Amino acid sequence: MRYVVISDIHGNFPALQMVLVDAQPFDAILCLGDIVGYGPNPNECVERVQDFPLTAIVGNHDWGAIGRADLLIFNNDARQALYWTQHELSSENRKFLSDLPPTVQLDGFLLAHGSPREPIWEYLVDARSARENFVAYDFHVALVGHTHLPLALEWAEGFNQARVLLPDWESSLSLNERRLILNPGSVGQPRDGDPRASYAILDTEKMTWEFRRIAYAVEITQERMRARGLPLRLIDRLQVGR
Ligand code: ZN
Repeated sequence: MRYVVISDIHGNFPALQMVLVDAQPFDAILCLGDIVGYGPNPNECVERVQDFPLTAIVGNHDWGAIGRADLLIFNNDARQALYWTQHELSSENRKFLSDLPPTVQLDGFLLAHGSPREPIWEYLVDARSARENFVAYDFHVALVGHTHLPLALEWAEGFNQARVLLPDWESSLSLNERRLILNPGSVGQPRDGDPRASYAILDTEKMTWEFRRIAYAVEITQERMRARGLPLRLIDRLQVGR
């Protein structure tokens, strides 16, 4: 199977559309949570991913948008956008989000928005937190999102520690015989200084993972956010990918 792996779409429909075109051909979508929150098109994004064979899990903003997470946990801008999203979501789409599981095991891959041990909330950004997950949980390859940073974390058996592998944009990563935590980055709100939508291609026959980037019309998303009165800081950050 050739999967397009997407995470943290955050209601950014122009970014999602561009990724789904750029990723062709693929057999199915793996979606690692946070389809909504921050962005101006939550309903369109929830509906669009269902146009394809889909395996999806829930993220913290999805929980916020359906009233399952206390919005006081979120920062001010995120909270404002979530209040707006709560009112905007159709009841059908709210139901879709509330039916999403926090983790899924698929073909030997573990899917979680945050981390294997704390699927909704943990930010896996360094070797130390990755190590704790590798030690405590029996998984081979885990796919996570949440940080909005494309990244691979590898278990180095002989050293009893995890190491950080920055994305190689030129060639794909072989998954054979390795324990890895892979993060495709964010479709709708990248935070690594590159405003282009970030995603990955997972090929389970070749056992490879490919980090991908594609530019989209940021200004269209920004214009829609302005029209909906979403927080200025959220509008500005899309341009710089921070
Ligand atoms: Zn997110």
